[in-house]
Amino acid sequence: MTLAEKINDQIRDITDFPKPGIIFKDITPVLSHPKLVTEIVDWFVEKAKTDGIDVIVGVESRGFLFGMMIAEKLGVPFVPVRKEGKLPYETIKYSYDLEYGSATMEIHKDAIKKGQKVMIHDDLLATGGTALAAAKLVNELGGKVGNFTFLIELGFLEGKKKLAKENEAVYSIVT
Ligand code: 5GP
Repeated sequence: MTLAEKINDQIRDITDFPKPGIIFKDITPVLSHPKLVTEIVDWFVEKAKTDGIDVIVGVESRGFLFGMMIAEKLGVPFVPVRKEGKLPYETIKYSYDLEYGSATMEIHKDAIKKGQKVMIHDDLLATGGTALAAAKLVNELGGKVGNFTFLIELGFLEGKKKLAKENEAVYSIVT
């Protein structure tokens, strides 16, 4: 079985979550399989090495799960990007439009050093709005996005197109 097939086997489709009409991809069963987790982390670590990544940025909250493990295995810093109001120290913010309303993401203002090459990591790529917000925050702090990585990409939403505008690599294990 390929890694993508193994992950696919452990993804649960939840109908009408978090609201009616949405089929949510639940990745938590993956976390119950430590050998699979190791394979996944190694896959992302290779992508980090390929693109010369210095820092892993994980997006709240499921981006923290593998993001921290990738950073630890690679021996580089991990930086959280969180929803507004969660980070305790001074932050910079970026707001973006959702289907209904808007969302604001934050990063600590001293989290990235100028010129650092960053991997933006999250569990799932849908429209790309969230990952793009994380990229904007990284850029504002003087960092450079080296790549974007996801366990799952919902191909029909074309989030990849939104992210690839700046020519950064976008990698997902399952599409
Ligand atoms: P986007 O901004 O690309 O439209 O949405 C991606 C964000 O929403 C990610 O942070 C991701 O965790 C979350 N998300 C949206 N839909 C799903 C889903 O079906 N499953 C999971 N696990 N996360 C989702």
